[in-house]
Amino acid sequence: MKQALGPGEWRNWAGTATATAARRPQPRSEAEISAAVKDAAAAGLRVRALGSGHSFTPAAATSGVALDLSLWTGVTAADTRTGLVTVRSGTTLRALNAALAELGLALVNLGDIDAQTIAGALATGTHGTGARLGGLATQVEALDLVLADGSLVGCSASARPELFAAARVGLGALGVLTAVTLRCVPSFTLAADERPMPVERVIEEFGALAAANDHFEFYWFPYGRQALVKRNNRVPPGRPAAAPAGRAAAPMPGWRRFWEFEVMENAAFGTLCRVGRTAPRLIPALNRLSSAALSARSYTDASYRVFVTPRRVHFVESEYAVPRESLPGVLAELRRAVPRLDDPVMFPVEVRVAAADDIWLSTAYGRDTAYIAIHQYTGLPYQAYFDLFESVVAPVAGRPHWGKLHSLDAGRLGPLYPRFEDFRRVRAEVDPEDRFGNAYLGRVFGPAG
Ligand SMILES: Cc1cc2nc3c(=O)[nH]c(=O)nc-3n(C[C@H](O)[C@H](O)[C@H](O)COP(=O)(O)OP(=O)(O)OC[C@H]3O[C@@H](n4cnc5c(N)ncnc54)[C@H](O)[C@@H]3O)c2cc1C
Repeated sequence: MKQALGPGEWRNWAGTATATAARRPQPRSEAEISAAVKDAAAAGLRVRALGSGHSFTPAAATSGVALDLSLWTGVTAADTRTGLVTVRSGTTLRALNAALAELGLALVNLGDIDAQTIAGALATGTHGTGARLGGLATQVEALDLVLADGSLVGCSASARPELFAAARVGLGALGVLTAVTLRCVPSFTLAADERPMPVERVIEEFGALAAANDHFEFYWFPYGRQALVKRNNRVPPGRPAAAPAGRAAAPMPGWRRFWEFEVMENAAFGTLCRVGRTAPRLIPALNRLSSAALSARSYTDASYRVFVTPRRVHFVESEYAVPRESLPGVLAELRRAVPRLDDPVMFPVEVRVAAADDIWLSTAYGRDTAYIAIHQYTGLPYQAYFDLFESVVAPVAGRPHWGKLHSLDAGRLGPLYPRFEDFRRVRAEVDPEDRFGNAYLGRVFGPAG
């Protein structure tokens, strides 16, 4: 059972990071954010902005000043003609999606939950799936930040372009984001099709499947022979979506949404996980059971209601971005090695895709990417599994998600990112005293100055 947190105490969603801050101000304006940074400097304290705590890494942890931006929310400007929308940095994706829907707009691509703040999600390179689409940071047009000296600056492709290239996926290392301007698209509907397929076939046809669908991903339960393939495709405005069986697909009725997402994917799966944790030797059989129980479903809904699903069963996760063509080899190696682990794995592997982008620390920088995410149920041993995974993705230049568990440091990350040294240079320029540093940033970037 979770313990209540004391004053200044902070714990992330997965319970993999905790910290106790000296101060936890809740600014309500840019001036208050700036004042909090200046006050911290005067007191010799470091500063980290808090998002929703959904990173598995201790990216937000600090014993200095934890800036709680939960009162710094809302859309401040929107142009429905251009799709440009400016939002305060503490706004959650859930609130943002709702506000955009009211305006007849939407984000072109999203990850699979909406609990994160927009700034927290950007900071670690949060992404969804889509062979022709990038992660959230590729949807950013401009940013406002409070720098280490307390000044408020704006950046975009034309104003301070280097700061913009660095800060879109910046791990909060360059300053406190105060506002984000996003390029949104008109609201759209997605037709979702989810069905089991033999995992060998999915791997064989991976390139074609990724290319043929707007948003393609699959889950594979280690030990199972079936993968659950998810294809989400845009429905052209005014045209009803046809379900593969020939019936018109429709939004899932509320009761069925509750049954499928809450009962089957969360409550029932949570029960299986608890059984597995009590009797780990049953896990391969439970895993095969989950795999065999996969069933097909098709529905259509507003894009953000299809992208996002509730995740109530807690887990730990590591995710690596690999060049897309190396995915089959990585999965073949995992399929061979995972059954030999001493501690069995309870959670599925998730595979997604993204297009190459030019954001310095984006995990998809300069290459069309496949993402492989591995998970383990909370409370079950995971270290050997995660170490094995790192050894499999290292030879193909795998880049870890900045918000998910990994063991890489600056020495190993530098060669993976052609603009790593540029990032460190910009960081040294805007934060020479390491005001926004913490232990995690020290590991992945080295000292700031
Ligand atoms: C259940 C679950 C599902 C997930 N699904 C996905 C997914 O589909 N795709 C994906 O890519 N990732 C996913 N993630 C990872 C998640 O999106 C990232 O870890 C994200 O960074 C979390 O956002 P947050 O608001 O919780 O930020 P936090 O974890 O609280 O903070 C992340 C970083 O952002 C910094 N930060 C926060 N606010 C600011 C600010 N205003 N200015 C500067 N820096 C700031 C923090 O200091 C920290 O360094 C998932 C995580 C969980 C737990």
